[in-house]
Amino acid sequence: MKTLTNSKIWLSSPHMGTKEQKFVQEAFDTNWIAPLGPNVNNFENAIATYIDNDVNVAALSSGTAAIHLALELLDVSHGDEVLCQSFTFSASANPILYLGAVPIFIDSEKDTWNISPVLLEKAILDRMANGSKPKAIVAVHLYGMPYKVDEIKNVADKYSIPVVEDSAEALGSTYKNIKCSSFGDIGILSFNGNKIITTSGGGALVTKDKKIKDKAVFLATQARDDAPHYQHSSVGYNYRMSNVLAGIGCGQMQVLDDRVSSRRANHEFYKKALKNHNEVEFLEEPEGFFSNRWLTCILLPSYDQREKLRLSLLADNIESRPLWKPMHLQPIFEKYPSFLDGTSKDLFERGLCLPSGSNLTEQDLERIVLILKTTLS
Ligand SMILES: *Cc1c(COP(=O)(O)O)cnc(C)c1O
Repeated sequence: MKTLTNSKIWLSSPHMGTKEQKFVQEAFDTNWIAPLGPNVNNFENAIATYIDNDVNVAALSSGTAAIHLALELLDVSHGDEVLCQSFTFSASANPILYLGAVPIFIDSEKDTWNISPVLLEKAILDRMANGSKPKAIVAVHLYGMPYKVDEIKNVADKYSIPVVEDSAEALGSTYKNIKCSSFGDIGILSFNGNKIITTSGGGALVTKDKKIKDKAVFLATQARDDAPHYQHSSVGYNYRMSNVLAGIGCGQMQVLDDRVSSRRANHEFYKKALKNHNEVEFLEEPEGFFSNRWLTCILLPSYDQREKLRLSLLADNIESRPLWKPMHLQPIFEKYPSFLDGTSKDLFERGLCLPSGSNLTEQDLERIVLILKTTLS
């Protein structure tokens, strides 16, 4: 009756440090229970210092809100086309629809599982031949693995199309020693409960252009014009981060590097434990790429073997999950144009995310690996 006694192991659960409650308590003590205040400023500064590439940071209510504002700040509006990595979480693409724009999905390449520069250029040429030049590109560092930053930037620059860099899963990842979220025209981060650090819910917009940050904060606080009364000349949003939640973020920033180390150690643990199972594939870091290994993902030879593994883990009260189902296969998005070569569909069918939280114990990892090994052999 082991399923009754085995405690649940989650895919990726929040992991608090020791300082978060102090910052939250300060917010209470000083009555800064508002979507602004010292924790918000300090959290933004801590992120900017960490990213360290002359960036400005606006703390927001979610990563999705950050993508929405990013697209709006890049002037995406009704009827515009936006190129978007298909292999991602739906939050990368939903804001395109919020703006009444049209997503065009691009398949992944095999080295990083992210947006293919070849298919991206093909899509741009195709759309331009149709008389509609895409307005923006949404590229994603999925599972913490940086996309091919130089190649994507070259294509984007060649056709002068701005990039929204979805770094929701990649805080702490680097490309050629530079932190992710500072490469795009606008970068975004997420602090949702399952991410590498969390504020319970939250996100941020990252930009080298101070004017873009100021405009983001303006739009995120209901677009109030400078007047003693409430005066509005554009559509605003209520997207600012709460000072209480930013307090959690201030505490989490102090342990971010530890969290990256722990997630990378999980990845190494799995790799070592399964090294004799040649049928299990891991995603390697190409030269110059450093992944925070937000989630450790494996590829199995077939869908059936993937499912067998997932169900064996589930029977032992261990959560694992298939890789993201590509957007071009989602009922809500399948009617939009896409440029494909089958890569993301194959990853979805054969891939599994293993429990990857920074709070997993050695015992947890041993328990997971035992199930994996028994099921595989
Ligand atoms: C989590 C996530 C988002 C959205 O962030 P939220 O803070 O949950 O709104 C966007 N893109 C990717 C790739 C994500 O994983």
